[in-house]
This record gives sequence, structure tokens and C-alpha cells, in this order.
Amino acid sequence: MDRVIGIDLGTTNSCVAIVEGGVPKVIPNKGGYKTTPSIVGISDSGRRFVGQMAKRQAITNARHTVYAAKRLIGRKWASSEVQHGLETVPFELVRGPHDDVRIKLRDKVYSIPEISSIILQEMRVVAEDYLSEEVAKAVITVPAYFNDAQRQATKDAGRIAGLDVLRIINEPTAAALAYGFGRDDLEARIAIYDLGGGTFDISILEINQGVFDVLSTGGDTYLGGEDFDARIIEWLVYEFAAEHNVDLRRDEMALQRMKDAAEKAKCELSAMQETEINLPFIYTQEDGEALHLQRTLSRARLEDLVEDLVHRTVKICDQTLKEAGLTVDAIDDVILVGGMTRMPRVQQVVAEYFGREPSKNVHPDEVVALGAAIQAHALIDEEAEVLLLDVTPHDLGIGVYGGGVQVLIERNSTVPVSRSHIFTTVKDSQTSVKILVVQGESSKAHENDLLGEFVLTGLRRAPAGEVEIEVTFEISADGIVSVAARDLETGLAQSITVTATSGLEEEEILAMIEENQDYLVQTRESEEVEQHRAEIRRTIREVERLLPTVRDVMQGSTLGKDALRKAEDALSRAREALEGRNPEHIIASSEALSRTYTVFQGIVERMQ
Ligand code: AMP
Repeated sequence: MDRVIGIDLGTTNSCVAIVEGGVPKVIPNKGGYKTTPSIVGISDSGRRFVGQMAKRQAITNARHTVYAAKRLIGRKWASSEVQHGLETVPFELVRGPHDDVRIKLRDKVYSIPEISSIILQEMRVVAEDYLSEEVAKAVITVPAYFNDAQRQATKDAGRIAGLDVLRIINEPTAAALAYGFGRDDLEARIAIYDLGGGTFDISILEINQGVFDVLSTGGDTYLGGEDFDARIIEWLVYEFAAEHNVDLRRDEMALQRMKDAAEKAKCELSAMQETEINLPFIYTQEDGEALHLQRTLSRARLEDLVEDLVHRTVKICDQTLKEAGLTVDAIDDVILVGGMTRMPRVQQVVAEYFGREPSKNVHPDEVVALGAAIQAHALIDEEAEVLLLDVTPHDLGIGVYGGGVQVLIERNSTVPVSRSHIFTTVKDSQTSVKILVVQGESSKAHENDLLGEFVLTGLRRAPAGEVEIEVTFEISADGIVSVAARDLETGLAQSITVTATSGLEEEEILAMIEENQDYLVQTRESEEVEQHRAEIRRTIREVERLLPTVRDVMQGSTLGKDALRKAEDALSRAREALEGRNPEHIIASSEALSRTYTVFQGIVERMQ
């Protein structure tokens, strides 16, 4: 059976899990950590850094290091999130060809799915290293509140990473799967409160003997730990400006250092009442004098700085509960997901709102990946059945005359779902009809997300209103929208052309998949060469250690002289190969030196 992994592609950290022997488990990376920072850096030689390595080089390479790419995925250039990003991120955002947002790193412009694909690929490698086999299939999680463009872009990222994305599932739903795992007779109504690095999600679910039914979902895809960090940075900038009259926001390196320090202080304040932020040499004045930033931040002060953010989440909880037709007393358990829920004030406010202490049974960083792995396993193993009834987070509708919207699929409808609508011509001999498909809650079409312009073409010429085309809108279990059309009179499928309004065209994706594969082959080859290099260095040391003994033993014998000559030859060729970059030389000399080492070992052993 093929292996399928579950990946939690987080704003700050990502996590990969698998079901092994019927039990879901998180796979640690090479460093032994169960989560990997969702950070990508490109060095001046074009080398990619991912995860911890990328985080380490971020301060000295801020302009070419991307973090929190998830906040930009599937967004349009004009969106407020991107415009906000233009002012706050140290890397360069550029407008893409489909009104999407891209990032310029060194001399290459990357789409956001490409950046996410680099992280996904890293998670895939973590799994492959652990399993010692190739992994080609995955279930990836997204915030429940992601719209079609964000889901589609995440799926594209998976494809670019060479993964067959079997399903996109919602993070809170994944968390619920992990919560209910192995408790077949569980019957409960639960709230999953998920506050991560970049997004907030709340889902209300009913679990009934293995059936996971999402009743309602709500959230904000631009509310998370990054915003908490930003409040601390603002405070630091303000304090520093008040003292020195210097605006630190203009200095990329200072910003990056403050960002790291702010996050660290925030995390420390979950365990302590007070912490010290100490950034020496943060700024050098024109006269050469160095300025240092040193401040004490208390937990109470932090809580003041972010109180409105915490309350925004509660407002969304309230609304989402109302949409499920429930009140707080109907909730049997509250589950906290996401790193930000470690903040005591967040836990306190959630407990106050729901009138109960949240459950302590799940690990906030790992539960989503575990749920993704459970779903992944269920998709390939018929016996491991899980019935997941998820919902669509936004209204889906079409733009109508006058700028309004006709809603076809209401938010919180269970997916997969499809609805049909009949279109007709308004002019005589009209041969095409344009349909604007929008997603969102506003009654004005332009205030929603435009998913696409669908043009029905090649209609037969007839008087106005005579041609009737039935258009079916479908939302898959992934939450992704597709559209099909049929001529009601002839029953024939009607062709539809879709103009992508953001995201990638199929051809671009195929080109990226190919480029990525080339890169992976190159990286794997160079990893192999690096392993041989390390092996050569080790063997040189071993051969040099044994050489004096072998010399003593072999003194005078012709056979010995010959062996020693060969050994010295192998040593000098190995040293030479280490200097150069020729992989064939490196591999050949590594093998030759290993043979010498084996001969030497044999000689020394015989002596003992
Ligand atoms: P996630 O996206 O779930 O990995 O959550 C990451 C967010 O959680 C980041 O903003 C982290 O700074 C934040 N976080 C992690 N640990 C803590 C902690 N102990 N206290 C407060 N925030 C934390």
C-alpha cells in the first residue's frame, strides 16, 4: 500500500504525521524537532534554505528570506493583506501576471505556491528519511476559513512539490479527528478554537460514533501570532523613537531582530510574569555612536497591547456558535489548537466565554498533522473508515445586474455540494454569456472574492431568452469550486472558458513541477557527493592513523611496499578530489580509499 502523509502547512511552523500500525504519529525532522519553521531563504549562490536553517540565516539575509507565506497565498495584489504586507515584510513583493502576489528573491520571482511547495517538499523529505521510502501522496490542511483561491493555491503548492494531494482538509476538522481517534462511541459537541501564527479558526462539530459533522465554521485568515508580535514591535519602535528620535522600522536588520525578539518575549511571557528584551547595537547613528535597545516587558503590559486581538476571536466564536444554532452550554468540550493558545490570557478569555476549562488532552502543535494523517490513512485503507462532513466557510454566488449577488450555495453548507442555475440570453442572436462567480458574505459583488469569470461560448443563435443553459456549481470535499454547463434543449455540455483572476495557470504549474524536480535531483546528487566528502575525510583520518603501524609491519617486504605505495596514492588522490568539485572524482576516490582502509584494517587485525 502506498504511504500517505498528513501535512499541517502552518504559517509559522509545519508538521508531518503518518499512521503506523494503526496509530497516528508525528515524524520528527533531522534535528529531532516535531515541527519545522515555515521559512524559506535563498542564498546569494541561489541555494535554498528551509526550516531551522532558513530561520538561522534570516537576520543576515532578511531581504531574501520568506516567512508567513501562508498569509499571502491565494491573495490578490490589491487585497488589503498584500498592501499591508508591502509595508511590513522585509522581502520584496511584486505584482504577478494574474493580479496575484509574487516574491523576488535574488534574481528570481517566485509565486507563493512555489514558496509553500519548498516547505511541503521539506516535510516530504522529513517523512521519506524516516520511512526510508518515497512518499508521493499527501493530505494537506488549511484554515477552515480559506476561500477557493487559497485552497486551490495550496493544492497547487502540493503538486509543485511532487505530491498527489488526495484531499485538502480544514485544520479544526483535522484536530477534531485526532481528538476523537480511538474513541468510537464518543458522542459530543465540541468547539475547536485554533489560533496559530497567522490565522484564527473556530469550528463547532458534532461527533457521533465515528461521524464528524461540522455544524459551523468561522474565522479570520489575517489574525494570529504574527499580529501579536507586531504589537510588541510597534511598542518597541515607539519606545525607541521616544528615547532616541530614531525610527527603527526603516532598518531591515533591526526589524528582523525586533521580530525575533518580540516572538521570543511573547512566548516567554506565557511562562513568566516579566521578560527582558535586549538588542545591543540595534542602530548606529551618523556620528558612529551605537544605540542599544533594552526594555522590560511584563505579561500585564503584553496583555494590554493585544487585548483587542483576543476579543476579536471571541466575537467570531459568538457569531459561529449562533450560526450553528447553539448556545455555549450546548458545548461539551473546548479544544485549543495552535501555538498562540499557550498564552495564558487567550486560555483565560476562552474559558470565560465557554464557561469551562478547555480540554488538555491534545497537543496544540501536533494535533492538526495527526488529524491529517488519520484522514490520509482513511482514504487509502477501507477498514479505517472516518466519516467527515465538513462545510464551506463562505457564500458562493454569482454577480447579477446592478452589482448585486445571487447566493447559490450558502456558507456552512455541507460539502461536497452542488447547485444548478439556469441562464438565458438577454439579446437576440447572443452567442455568449459571461458569469462572474464570487465568494464572500457581502451583498455587493465587488466586495467579495472574485473566483473567476466563466464565459459560456458558442451558444446557438436564437431570439432572446430562448436558449437555456444550466450551469452547475460544485464545491468538492476539498472546498474547491468547479463549474460545468449544459444546454437544456440539446443536453450537450456547453464549453466554458475560465479566466484565472489570481493563482497559477496550468502551464505555469507544469513548468514549476519540472523545475522543482530538476532542483531536487541536483540537491539529492549534491547531498550524495557531500556524504562521500564526509566519508573521505573520515577515511583519510583512519588511514593516517593506521599508516605508521602498517609501515612497521610491512618493512622490507615487496608486497608491503606495493600496498604502501597504493595507499599513499589513494590518499593523495582523495585529498586532491576533496579540493575539487568533480562528483565522479569524489565518488571514485572515496571508494578507492575505502578499499585501502579495509586492507589496512586486515593487516592490523592479523597482528593482534
Ligand atoms: P502555529 O501556527 O500553530 O505553529 O502557532 C505559531 C504561533 O504560536 C506563533 O506566533 C508563535 O509565536 C506562537 N507561540 C508558540 N509558542 C507560544 C507560547 N509558549 N506562548 C505564546 N505564543 C506561542
